[in-house]
Amino acid sequence: MGTRVTPDPTARLRLDVALDQLLNPETTPLDRDHKAARGLLRAANQAHLDRIRELTRRLRHAHRNPLVGTDRDGRSNQTKQLNAIHTDLRAAGARHRARRAELTIRLDLAAGELPPLLEALEEAVMSTGGAGNASRGVHRSPLNSSAVEVLADIERATGHRVGPLADSLRAWQPEDVDAAADRAERWVVEARAIINPSRWMEAKRSCPACGTRHVWVAEDGGQRIRKAALQVNLTDGHAACIAPACGAHWDRTRIPLLVAALEQDDVAS
Ligand SMILES: [Zn+2]
Repeated sequence: MGTRVTPDPTARLRLDVALDQLLNPETTPLDRDHKAARGLLRAANQAHLDRIRELTRRLRHAHRNPLVGTDRDGRSNQTKQLNAIHTDLRAAGARHRARRAELTIRLDLAAGELPPLLEALEEAVMSTGGAGNASRGVHRSPLNSSAVEVLADIERATGHRVGPLADSLRAWQPEDVDAAADRAERWVVEARAIINPSRWMEAKRSCPACGTRHVWVAEDGGQRIRKAALQVNLTDGHAACIAPACGAHWDRTRIPLLVAALEQDDVAS
């Protein structure tokens, strides 16, 4: 064992936050759809109770006032009446179960948990045919990494060999906590970018960390396109510089620092 680098006191915290985001599900807040679905579910339950009550009353009435006689085929009118009500009861139950399942699915979607980022990355790779697509760039992020590359980097960092990658990440004991925190935060930024590619906005300003304004990145198929170096994620409000030599990023809490730096640049220029 080499001597451990004494980490920046916040590095451990930054690393833990990043690992938490990679490994644990995020819950989506209750929204209007959720409340509406809950209301529909209550109404459906009530309608079902009313229907069952009405059928039960008919059943009791049929027992108290038995029909006499048989039909032409010799079947008892009373038995036929009771069977018909039981059939209605069963059908009402089946209809209600189907409706409840449908409404419950809507509830799950509205209030459900988002999968952990690591799981979403693995899912992104599997859904497009596995690691064989690495060079073709599955799910390229604005930072121009693919899900395959981010997973490969996590494997390299954690020395992952077998079993679930999440286990290796959980057991990760990096020597250099500062570098590990930077690396893990980068995974989070890239994973978010890969999973929600449409929620990125280009900031048409120079990066305050490295001064780069534009970068050329190779798209699938080889042609190079120009992108703003500073990218802002509209989903969770963090920003990142995609210049290869820079890699600066600002999480939500550090966005005011970025804005202040940009304003200073405006004054200077
Ligand atoms: Zn930069």
